[in-house]
Amino acid sequence: MIRFVTDNEKMTFEAGCAFGARLKGGAVIAIDGDLGAGKTVFARGIAAALCVEGHVVSPSYTIINEYEGKIPFYHFDLYRLNDADELLGIGFYDYLESAGVCAIEWASKFKDELPSTTIWVKINRIDETKREITIDGCEL
Ligand code: ADP
Ligand code: MG
Repeated sequence: MIRFVTDNEKMTFEAGCAFGARLKGGAVIAIDGDLGAGKTVFARGIAAALCVEGHVVSPSYTIINEYEGKIPFYHFDLYRLNDADELLGIGFYDYLESAGVCAIEWASKFKDELPSTTIWVKINRIDETKREITIDGCEL
């Protein structure tokens, strides 16, 4: 298990970046935490490590945003989805099997749909600006 404690947005971005630098194509990252915890900020760090160009925006309305990079980056937010049929509709399982990196916010809503190799990132809000980030399922 890896643990980071961050005091501001930049540190969470950098934690995502340090973590993302170790990822290989095909990795599936589940990012959990409450609204405003910093899931999207952490995902932006992963994207930066993959040399994604342009701004990574929250996929909360689009559900999935795709980016080109050193490795393709697929960024999901499953908050608005309610059943697994909807995952099929957005091609979720194809993305999981692709050679890209998938980062999935609110993944715990669909735990059973994720591969056993999923790396779990949990972001806990300690106070207004302090976050605890724990990562399970990967040796870094
Ligand atoms: P989520 O995707 O989990 O809903 P976001 O990443 O969109 O959350 O937003 C996190 C918000 O919390 C941002 O407004 C950011 O500025 C703020 N923030 C404050 N402290 C931190 C921190 N330590 N890490 C990440 N974000 C932080
Ligand atoms: Mg978000």
